[in-house]
Amino acid sequence: MNAMSRADLARFIADARRLVVFTGAGVSTESGIPDFRSPGGVWSRMKPIYFQDFVANAEKRREAWERAFTGRAGWTGREPNAGHHAVARLVAQGKASCVITQNVDNLHQASGVPADQVIELHGNASYAKCLECEERHELDELREGFLKAGEIPYCRRCGGLVKTATISFGQQMPAEPMARAEAATLECDAFLVLGSSLVVYPAAGFPLMARENGAKLAIVNREATELDACADLVLHDEIGPALTAVTPSN
Ligand code: ZN
Repeated sequence: MNAMSRADLARFIADARRLVVFTGAGVSTESGIPDFRSPGGVWSRMKPIYFQDFVANAEKRREAWERAFTGRAGWTGREPNAGHHAVARLVAQGKASCVITQNVDNLHQASGVPADQVIELHGNASYAKCLECEERHELDELREGFLKAGEIPYCRRCGGLVKTATISFGQQMPAEPMARAEAATLECDAFLVLGSSLVVYPAAGFPLMARENGAKLAIVNREATELDACADLVLHDEIGPALTAVTPSN
């Protein structure tokens, strides 16, 4: 059942008429971004700040902004790698309709995938949003006030609390990206998982949904995943080199 070579992956992509690409932390580890759930990852060095605590507690907000502005979390400020570029080629060639991602690092957009074709299930750490009115705030506008004057950011429009645009632990999944991801999943005939161990739900429900809807499912990941047994193709490989080999530049 599980084919295992890059040639099989190339055929899987060639046969797809409408491909959805789904990415997890493993796509960005080759850019130097730690997989925050793995041993040695961010959450083993630094406790996550739960959404409820951020909202209720000014000291937690201060700590969260300190992490964001000092880069301690380590998930922004990196460059896209060969895996991101290969995914961008699949989108540019019209092979992939969109990228559903669990990552918050903005690297799919940085590699050239149009922002409206990146569906972010866990938000984006490269900018901030008001929790009341959703007004977007750039980190550059907020950084100096925080670092120099210790000002915790508030919304310039409504005075509400501003937070990086990530979905924190304890925060509700974003309705619009979830709905778009579901629609894309149900429209595809092939679903390609890259660099996700598929343990975090509801995100990991999308490959299953695709499979149950009749799409082919391929998983490329360095380690075994929770869904290897129900995939049509499983490749335990490095994402960048494997994807580069199967997505020529024209
Ligand atoms: Zn606001």
